[in-house]
Amino acid sequence: MLESVIHREGNTDAPKYVAPEVSYLLDRIVNVCFIGAPGETNRSWILVDCGLPGSASKIRNAASRLFGEGSRPAAIVLTHGHFDHIGAVHTLAHEWDVPVYAHELELPYLTGQSSYPPPDPLVGGGAMSVMSAVFPRRPIDLGRHAHELPSDGSVPGAPGWRWIPTPGHSPGHISLVRDSDRTVVAGDAFTTTKQESLVAALTQRAEIHGPPMYFTPDWDKARASVKHLADYAPSAAITGHGPPLRGERLQEGLRNLSTHFDVRARPAHGRYRDHPAITDGSGVVELPPPQVSATTVVLAGVALGAAIAIARGIGRDDDRRHTEELERLKLVTRDDMPAGATEGNGAGSDDVSLVAQQLSSVTSQVDAR
Ligand SMILES: [Zn+2]
Ligand SMILES: [Zn+2]
Repeated sequence: MLESVIHREGNTDAPKYVAPEVSYLLDRIVNVCFIGAPGETNRSWILVDCGLPGSASKIRNAASRLFGEGSRPAAIVLTHGHFDHIGAVHTLAHEWDVPVYAHELELPYLTGQSSYPPPDPLVGGGAMSVMSAVFPRRPIDLGRHAHELPSDGSVPGAPGWRWIPTPGHSPGHISLVRDSDRTVVAGDAFTTTKQESLVAALTQRAEIHGPPMYFTPDWDKARASVKHLADYAPSAAITGHGPPLRGERLQEGLRNLSTHFDVRARPAHGRYRDHPAITDGSGVVELPPPQVSATTVVLAGVALGAAIAIARGIGRDDDRRHTEELERLKLVTRDDMPAGATEGNGAGSDDVSLVAQQLSSVTSQVDAR
């Protein structure tokens, strides 16, 4: 059983192996992937997802280790455009002069047209859920670098791979699959750690879970996507959050998640539980009403402090963009701060003190680089 969890030593700058020609790098709480044979020449590999803000140099260094000093990819492919998957995309797309591919329904959030649906900090019960109240969700604008994935399912720069739609966690979420050995890069369609918990997110405890609850606005689609992936029976999978898994543990875990999705993954309450955010090719069209509690108001204040601490910590290497990111954090908070106040539930105070504790560790890790 234990050997089915591919060993990882946590946060290091060295990329690690998932399957032949697939490596990943852990950027604090999120994975980025490299597809291509090690030692391959320029423009013969691809990067999948771009980590948190401030990860450009770490990703660049990992790429140099894998593909040679100064090697550039053929393309960047995004599983989706949430802030923790696009942190270095501007910097790297510009520097490498590469196209960035995403599903057409994800492009509104990557081309300045629409913000993502607001998160639901009340679901999931962990500190990450609470903090999601202030996660950035405004669109970025990749301009000429943004491209729609080919409609024939092929993945530019990655022969032998195809993309499949796995929406729900975001409107145009995709996964990448390689049919020759059924390796999957699943983004946040499911996760292999309990992402709602900051402690699990930081320690990368391996468990199969649904998509991060706080940022998933369409649960019926998310369930169909997990079923699709479970039916595919991957031999190995790397997700956006958590260690890679393989073999029977992965397949059994996915089947179990799919069968019991409404109990194990769909939140028991919350804004999007029964009513999805409606989106189309222009972005968000209609949202269910927010559910607000007194606890949320208090915890959102704590989360703001936490988010600013994170933004300070991660804003070391791409300075101007990170100042903007910080501004955006504040703006999003003003926009999204709950106004009403009734009794309700949320994460416990233990979680909040853990946030403070763990945040200083995240920040000092970043400072040490
Ligand atoms: Zn996400
Ligand atoms: Zn994510």
